[in-house]
Amino acid sequence: MASESVALPFTIEPTTAPTPADHRADLIANPAFGRVFSDHMAMVRYSEGRGWHDARITARKPFPIDPAAAVLHYGQEVFEGMKAYRLESGGIATFRPEENARRFQASAARMAMAALPQDIFMTAVDELVRIDRDWVPTGEGKSLYLRPFMIATEVFLGVKPASEYLFMVIACPVAGYFGSGCVSVWVSDAYTRAAPGGTGAAKCGGNYAASLIAQRDSQTHGCDQVLFLDSREQRYVEEMGGMNVMFLRDDNTLVTPPLTGTILPGITRDAILRLARDQGLTVEEAPVAIDEVFEGAATGRYREAFACGTAAVISPIGSFRRTQGEAVFGDGKTPGPVTLALKKTLTDIQAGRTNDPHGWVHMIG
Ligand SMILES: *Cc1c(COP(=O)(O)O)cnc(C)c1O
Repeated sequence: MASESVALPFTIEPTTAPTPADHRADLIANPAFGRVFSDHMAMVRYSEGRGWHDARITARKPFPIDPAAAVLHYGQEVFEGMKAYRLESGGIATFRPEENARRFQASAARMAMAALPQDIFMTAVDELVRIDRDWVPTGEGKSLYLRPFMIATEVFLGVKPASEYLFMVIACPVAGYFGSGCVSVWVSDAYTRAAPGGTGAAKCGGNYAASLIAQRDSQTHGCDQVLFLDSREQRYVEEMGGMNVMFLRDDNTLVTPPLTGTILPGITRDAILRLARDQGLTVEEAPVAIDEVFEGAATGRYREAFACGTAAVISPIGSFRRTQGEAVFGDGKTPGPVTLALKKTLTDIQAGRTNDPHGWVHMIG
């Protein structure tokens, strides 16, 4: 069976051992994030000369990789994170997938990897969701998390951009982040995430590998998450390990650091900025000095803060902590009203509970 909708046809090979329906129901009832996977995966190969080929949807299983594959040594890898939602109407949809396809190309370009045509990215995701549609959970905040990624598979220890790549998509059902409370955030003074000219705007595994120690450090300081400052002066807010960050000031301005190359251009970030404008807030993409946040939390100038990204959508921030003290918003536990309103608007659009004024919802079936 082949889908002829794109230049590169996908061969569809359904698994011969699907997870029994009752077991699947147990698995998706309350999955721990990233530990439960669906039955299938998408795979497409690339080699210089042949281009993209061998596109298939197949049973999810381990695959052999040569110990000299370039990704294992020099970390040539990029990824995406997106979700398929079951809509009120019963259909299934993703959210702005063209943006993920575009960003995947930009990340790959930064890592000197082959460009994956957007229609191959889109078809791989759509076909995987279609075949694993029963893995898309029903219920508030639940979704099928999709992880497209690409690795350098050329067998060669020389240091150069690889000539062979493997693009894949895997999927896992996830529960919503129901926690009604706020996260506490450690402002790292020991580590930075990205420097000008570096890879901060690329969604690559290497950025995450480099941030793990800072995330662990935040926990030793009793915090849930880490916030990175700019690498030049350690003065300006950048982002969290895997989420963008925004602040609401008392003049009804939503402010977030600008995309200057060191911050990951979040699709959730972009959507929230547009929804905030729709709701009459002033939106500012401008440098945010960390001292101003600490002073502003004390004076009431800074009223709310939140992190945003596909996985948690919006994560309200109750407090920031650093060596010199603490900045607390409200009582440090209750999410702010504007944060909650933005979260509701966005999740209502994603779940098809309200109309979709910007055409962000992509129906899969
Ligand atoms: C993926 C990611 C984000 C959030 O991007 P979304 O498109 O909103 O999911 C923010 N920061 C980093 C470092 C990321 O990798």
